[in-house]
Amino acid sequence: DPGKIPAAPNDPLYSLVSAYEADTSADTVDLGVGAYRDENAKPWILPTVRKAKAILEKDPRHDHEYLPIAGLPTFNSAAQSLILGADSVAIKENRVCSFQTISGTGAVHLGALLISKFAPRPSPDVYISSPSWPIHDQVFTNVGLPVKHYPYFRKDTKTFDVSGMTQTLNSAPKGSIVVLHACAHNPTGVDPTSDEWIEIAKIMKANELFPFFDCAYQGFATGYLSQDNFAVRYFVEQGFQIAIAQSFAKNLGLYGERAGAFHFVASPSSNASSTTNRVASQLSILQRSEISSPPIYGAQIASIILNDPQLLSEWETDLLTMSGRIKKMRKCLKEELDRLQTPGTWDHIVNQIGMFSFTGLSPAHVHELREKWHVYMAETGRISVAGLNDHNVAYFARAVDNVVRR
Ligand code: PMP
Repeated sequence: DPGKIPAAPNDPLYSLVSAYEADTSADTVDLGVGAYRDENAKPWILPTVRKAKAILEKDPRHDHEYLPIAGLPTFNSAAQSLILGADSVAIKENRVCSFQTISGTGAVHLGALLISKFAPRPSPDVYISSPSWPIHDQVFTNVGLPVKHYPYFRKDTKTFDVSGMTQTLNSAPKGSIVVLHACAHNPTGVDPTSDEWIEIAKIMKANELFPFFDCAYQGFATGYLSQDNFAVRYFVEQGFQIAIAQSFAKNLGLYGERAGAFHFVASPSSNASSTTNRVASQLSILQRSEISSPPIYGAQIASIILNDPQLLSEWETDLLTMSGRIKKMRKCLKEELDRLQTPGTWDHIVNQIGMFSFTGLSPAHVHELREKWHVYMAETGRISVAGLNDHNVAYFARAVDNVVRR
């Protein structure tokens, strides 16, 4: 009876976008949605993407046909090499299968669906960082998997809570799934160091936990694609079986084109490639009944770039443009707050990495920033640093200074 369906709350971040768009003040600052903005707060089409679009337009084979169920083969293979490394033994040993998905969200969903269908009963717990991208909880819960949380962030020091996380993983039941942010953790902007990743891997190995990597920001942490996949590569080298959700929304600026991939890596064994083939056959069934075949345009753009060494290196330059401007804005914001002698410590703004800063501002501060200063940011105190620029950073610092002093 649809009459009995209760009303669900609006998505907080999309509601924030609507509120921002409806605000007619000249001073509005949008620090909500995690999308790169240029110096003038405008969306940025990457120069490499412009080139790829021109190449595609001129290609006489360019059409709008259906892709195969698993997606564009040249995209899948290049996406696989990008996250695992072109020299990956798992690829050489045919232990990896890849499906093009509806961006990163679709990849998380496809993996979650596979687990919900084939994991032993009772279903394993899915451990998600606290805090995390809020949609993780939603996606795993929606396919009927029980969600638990592991501590990730120390509010007092605004750093990674290594002991909290490792203690929880130590006591997690064998066979549990652990969702790991491959790099540039959303929302905290705080990642484990390589030594901490090694420790996490050791505990997960000993406790037979299953890593599910979410990689939405490759190229945004260090600025280099081949450094930002350290954790994934390390876990593969350690012989784990792994699920990976990969998004090209942020790093190629292809947000609305929904280009992403789900990869499954079987652990090394004599029948690993047969396991991978069987998993791929089941993913085909799931993909067919969910979306039939994935969208073509974004995957074609990504494929042109990923398969051309010259464009690939130009893309790395674009990534440095984005990550460089974000870093510069972190520094400017910190300098402004220092200059105003804003109460509190603000080192975390420059120490955190990736697209976001977890400012530590309270929901009351966030509310006042919106009502009084027309600054739009997530309730959690997370800001998308790319929303700052030379024109608004001093204004935002003044606004923060004002609300924290009250
Ligand atoms: N995972 C994380 C951690 C994210 O932050 C995002 C985007 N906000 C995604 C996945 C998925 O993004 P998309 O579906 O746009 O690729």
